[in-house]
Order: sequence, then structure tokens, then C-alpha cells
Amino acid sequence: MTRSGLMRAAVLHGKEDVRIERVAVPRLEPGDVLLRTRVALTCGTDAKVFRRGYHAKMIVPPAVFGHEMAGVVEEVAPGVEGWVPGTPVVAANSAPCGECYYCRHEMSSLCDDLLFWNGAYAEFARIPARVVSKNLLPLEEGVDFREAAMVEPLACVIRGVEESWIGRGQSVAVIGTGPIGLMFVALARMRGAHVVAAGRRRERLDKATEMGAEGTVSPRAGEDLAELLRQRSPDGRGADVVIEAVGLPETSEAAVRSVRKGGVVQLFGGCPADTKIGIDSQRLHYQELTIKSTFHHTPESVRKAFRLIADGHIDPNAFITAEEPLERLPEVLGGMASGAAGLKTAILPWGPDR
Ligand SMILES: [Zn+2]
Ligand SMILES: [Zn+2]
Repeated sequence: MTRSGLMRAAVLHGKEDVRIERVAVPRLEPGDVLLRTRVALTCGTDAKVFRRGYHAKMIVPPAVFGHEMAGVVEEVAPGVEGWVPGTPVVAANSAPCGECYYCRHEMSSLCDDLLFWNGAYAEFARIPARVVSKNLLPLEEGVDFREAAMVEPLACVIRGVEESWIGRGQSVAVIGTGPIGLMFVALARMRGAHVVAAGRRRERLDKATEMGAEGTVSPRAGEDLAELLRQRSPDGRGADVVIEAVGLPETSEAAVRSVRKGGVVQLFGGCPADTKIGIDSQRLHYQELTIKSTFHHTPESVRKAFRLIADGHIDPNAFITAEEPLERLPEVLGGMASGAAGLKTAILPWGPDR
């Protein structure tokens, strides 16, 4: 071991309480790999965890957190084959078991035993054996840590686009202009669709336009989002595909109300627990709507995301608007929770030297 046994890490203690502390470097189990974190990206999920002080499924304070990262193999535990210290890599934040009903039927995002790891906001992160064997990828020449760290969210959005059957010439409405909504805009454009983006902030709508949105919609108080989206759709009949990337019941309902007959609604932004949405069952049936709600990624979509970045089809730097040292993470998350204008921030636990 080359380290003192301690590292700097962001520790979540509770609601809006994140402290940078010295904690033990994670211990490895057989098959695990220890990564030196070069870039950890902020994510809306982490801002939510910061605001609430926990994550129902995976984070009980006090705990390290953060899940979008790229770094360098620091140490490999016994039983690890094919990885050597010094290799630059990106790790996805989970891996499916490969054995349950869902894994055996090509639905591994629904794995009964999806294994998550957290702790990207730290000098070192332990990548569990299963993730090492299924979702750890070496970086290629020309891909830097900042770019590679975008693989995880992009892999989720790739699945969202594929599951929504977005194709050439279609009209697509994207509700929400956070990083996820903007990734949908960019990927839908890449597939040759015509995109209208809906959001509130002018700078974000401008960003959507930069990424290829042909129109934007920004409802004012009292205006009906569904109605505005219909007005912007071909012949006013509604878009072929409507993506909800906000995660609120109101916008989910607006998405369903604005799609054309026979269209696809993708409720991608997960709504808070204990919320419900109302859907007009007559419309659902007589207008033959398809409502999907795609969750998470698969080892396959993780690899597709890596290819899109490595081949230069998606530029992660368009989504990363700041770089900060680990010490600034509490302020950065606080800013996100209160609606700061930036997109993703690259947190650099070892400083900017790459
Ligand atoms: Zn994320
Ligand atoms: Zn499984």
C-alpha cells in the first residue's frame, strides 16, 4: 500500500449537510479494484440526495456518495485479472447479476439484484468485483477523464432514446433542459428527428438550440405546456414522441396530453416517491398511446455511450460547465439545489492537472 490509509472524501451527514473529511481508504474484497478518482461529475440525483439527506435505495448517512466518475487503477485485489495499476478507466455505477430472470431475458436494467456503488466524491473509490467484471472500461487514446465520466448518464439516455423508438424525420418534444433533457435533444437530433425543447430558463433553451433543437417553448404563468407543445408540433396534432425529463407529476401529465394519437410518451424523469399521475383512460385507449418510463442503463448501453464519446459524436464538454476542487462540493450541490444556471460540474479531487 502506497497510501497512509486515509483519504479526503465528501461525507453526507444529512439534509444539506455534506462535509469534506478524512476517512479510511476503502478496503478491497477479492475481485475489487481501487480507483484514484480524477473526475467526478455532479448529477441531479446527487443534488436530490443532498437536499433530502439520503437516498431511499442506496445511501444512508453518514456515507460517501457520487456515482459518475473516471480515474486510474490504483490497486487491484487478489482475483482481478486483466487490470493493472496505472490504467485510465471509467466505471459505471452499477452492474446486473447476470443470473436472475430479467438478466437472462435481456432486461438487465431490471435485475433483481442490481449492485450499486457510491463514493465518487473522494480521492479513491472502491469498485466492487461485479462492476469490475461487467462495467469497467479502459479509456482510449484521445478520451480524457472529464469526457469519460459522462458515460453513465449518457448510457441511461441512450436507452431512453432507443426505447422511445426515435427515428429519422420524427417530431420529438423534450420537456426539461437539464443535462438529461439536453442529452435527449442531442441524441434525437443525431437520429435525424426534429426537436422542440421546453423549459423555463432562457440560457438552457439557448443551449438546447445549440444542440440542435429547432424550436423552444417556455410557458408563462397560466399557460398550458401541453397546448404550447401542440402548437409547435406538425399541423398541431402533437409530437410523435414526447420526452419528460423533469420528474414532476405536472410535466408528466402535460407530456401525455401533448403527444399525437398513436404517439410515444417517455416519462424519463422519475417523479418523487408517493406521487401519482392522472391519465385520461379514454385517450389512452382510443388514441392508442404508448407510455414508457425507461430506467437506468445496461452493460450494452454503457458501451454504446463510451463509443459515442470516443468517436466524437457527443461532446461531453458541452454539458460540463465548471470545474471545482473537492472542497467546493458542498457549495456546488447547494447551488444546484437552489437552481443555479450551470449544467454539470467536474469535481477534481486531485486538482486540475490531467
Ligand atoms: Zn447520475
Ligand atoms: Zn439479474
